[in-house]
Amino acid sequence: MSAPNPYPLGLRLAGRRVVVVGGGAVATRRVPALLDAGADVLLVSPELTPALRAHVDAGRLHWEPRRFAPDDLDGAWLVQAAVADAVAAAAVSAAAAERRIFCVRADDRAAATAWTPAVTRHGPVTVAVLGGGDPRRAMTVRDAVRDLLGARKGPLLTDPVEEGAPVNNAAAGRGRVALVGAGPGDPELITVKGWRLLTEADVVVADRLVPGLLLDELRTGVELVDASKIPYGPSRAQEEINRILVDRALAGAFVVRLKGGDPYVFGRGGEELLACAAAGVPVTVVPGVTSSIAAPAAAGVPVTHRAVAHEFTVVSGHVAPDSPASLVRWDALAGLRGTLVILMGLKNLAAITGTLIGHGRPADTPVAVVQEGTTGDQRSLRSTLGAVAADVVAAGLRPPAVVVVGDVVGALDG
Ligand code: SAH
Repeated sequence: MSAPNPYPLGLRLAGRRVVVVGGGAVATRRVPALLDAGADVLLVSPELTPALRAHVDAGRLHWEPRRFAPDDLDGAWLVQAAVADAVAAAAVSAAAAERRIFCVRADDRAAATAWTPAVTRHGPVTVAVLGGGDPRRAMTVRDAVRDLLGARKGPLLTDPVEEGAPVNNAAAGRGRVALVGAGPGDPELITVKGWRLLTEADVVVADRLVPGLLLDELRTGVELVDASKIPYGPSRAQEEINRILVDRALAGAFVVRLKGGDPYVFGRGGEELLACAAAGVPVTVVPGVTSSIAAPAAAGVPVTHRAVAHEFTVVSGHVAPDSPASLVRWDALAGLRGTLVILMGLKNLAAITGTLIGHGRPADTPVAVVQEGTTGDQRSLRSTLGAVAADVVAAGLRPPAVVVVGDVVGALDG
């Protein structure tokens, strides 16, 4: 005989007491979603995992370091019995039933009065799947739904609109801008949040270094502005980009400004934020995986390594070291022992390496150069500070490339 179907509900737990009994792996997995829902969590367990202890230390929940007592449930709306011991779990269950509080049981689904579903969240939308008592089935269905929602389903997932109204951010008068880091090149290295906002955009203003595949997946009807095609010099072009962001947002569009790597690492993201702020346009910033760390990693170079480098410095090489416009103290950088990551440095590489050596960084310091890191076109070479400028020319490496200087180059070689 099969049991009747469960009745699905979305529990609104903000400020409401939820008791979690147990401090092991199950509790560790359950607690974050309860905290995310704003629950007032009471954790009862003699022992805690380090992750749970971090929540306690941060003051996110109350912890009673002892075994469960039935009174713990007084005032609770829900209880999670996250203990493996069936006798202990049954005691929690019994105390919950007496007080008419729903009880989730990790040890015995059949004995539980509530089940936790497999969940996928996409901004404001939560999809919860119950598998008829089979958690693996629930997870399989959840994964399929997650894939579906992750792929080109932006309009489904935007903020709620009036019933019957077409989904159109512009018409809804919610003009705003998101500065989104697209990551270093591999389209899979955008963040989950960045990807979601991209699928929701009315207008996408993209940089030259943004992975093309990301743009391939935009929903139809999106206005795509290629910022690299704006036909003025760099500073006029930036003004023009700022103007496009502001104008489209003021017209009601949701504009995603998609930038290579991280928006605030030599990306002029700050200028765009200020331009929007000056025009009263709300801005969200979504950080990205920066090429300054990811491109070295893709070529087998960690920017720090135990007992090798306790610092890494990221510097732009686009201004020559001897130029009056340079803001970089190359002489001081030459005195550092740690890792130096140079972006936009190929053009001035001979002058940069010469300056570093001239101020005392040894000429035999290992160097790696990584072109188009994390992409299918990645190329890299290993050299030394003294030889790298010539080696780059000989190998024909071109921008975009990062130069990594320091003993971390080679630290992972066997
Ligand atoms: N905001 C970007 C950097 C913009 S400046 C970030 O955080 O990554 C542009 C420079 O970044 C390029 O000249 C190059 O030095 C570096 N760069 C960007 N993408 C790169 C990649 N995939 N591989 C190597 N270097 C890259």
